Amino acid sequence: MKTIHTEAIVLHASDYGESDRIVSFYSLEAGLVRGMAKGARRSRKRFANSLEPGSRVRLSYKERRGLAWVENCKLLDAHENLRSDWFRWGHACLLCEAVLRVSPEGVSQPELFVLLRGGLERLCEDRDPWNVTALFLLRLLALNGHVPTLERCCQCGRTVQQYQAWTWNLDQGQLVCAEHGVRETAGVSLDRGSILLMRMAVAAAPEKLWRMRFRKDAAQALVRALASWVQHQSGRALKSLKILNSLGTKSLIQEERIHRGMGESF
Ligand SMILES: [Zn+2]
Repeated sequence: MKTIHTEAIVLHASDYGESDRIVSFYSLEAGLVRGMAKGARRSRKRFANSLEPGSRVRLSYKERRGLAWVENCKLLDAHENLRSDWFRWGHACLLCEAVLRVSPEGVSQPELFVLLRGGLERLCEDRDPWNVTALFLLRLLALNGHVPTLERCCQCGRTVQQYQAWTWNLDQGQLVCAEHGVRETAGVSLDRGSILLMRMAVAAAPEKLWRMRFRKDAAQALVRALASWVQHQSGRALKSLKILNSLGTKSLIQEERIHRGMGESF
C-alpha cells in the first residue's frame, strides 16, 4: 500500500476513544480527505499536537477501506495569531468549515489549497477579517461552480452597469434589481460597486485577489450572503457562522468557552 506524503491544512479534528483523533484535512495532493490518526493523542513524536483545525501541516497517510490512516504529521504553521484572537479565529473556522461543506472528497484542486492557505495567512495579518472571508468564500464557490450569474436582473434583464441598487435572492441564488426584488424572500442588498467587485474577485489572478477591498458594511453583508449560499448548497448549517455572529454580544468567559468549542463543533 502506497504512502502518500502531502502538505495539508487541518479542517476538523476530534478525539476518538482514548488515544486516537478523527481528522479531515484539505491536501495539496488529494483535496478533501477524511481519516484517522491512531495514537495521535499519545505519540508526541509522530504528531506533536499538530492535528488542530487551521494548522498547516506536512503529513503521511495510507488509504485503506475508504479512510486515510495518518502515520505522521509535522506542523508547518499553527497560525498562532489566529488562536489568540477569538474574532479572527471565528473567521478561520468559517473558512475551514466552508471548505469541508462544499468540496468533493478525494478530488485534487491545488488552486483551492492555495486559496485556503492564503486566506488563513491573510486572516493572521489583515485589518479586516470580513473582507478576507468575503473574498475567500467567493473564490471557493466559484472554484466549485456555485457562484450565480452576476450579470443582469433575472426579471427585467437590465445589466448591473445600468442600475445602482440590487438584491441577491438567497433562495434561488438569483440577482434582481431593487425594482424587481421580492421582499418576502431572503435576500441581501448589494450596490453596483460591490457586484462589480465580486465579478472581478471571481476572475482575478490568485496573486491579485487579496488586494481587493469591499466597503466594510458590504463585506459583512456579503459574508452572510455567501455563507447562507454555502448552507443552501450543502443542506447543512455552518456552526462557525452562528458562533461568529454571536461573538459581539458575549462576555469574555463565554467567548473563551466558544473558542474552545470551535473547530471541534462542526
Ligand atoms: Zn429588474
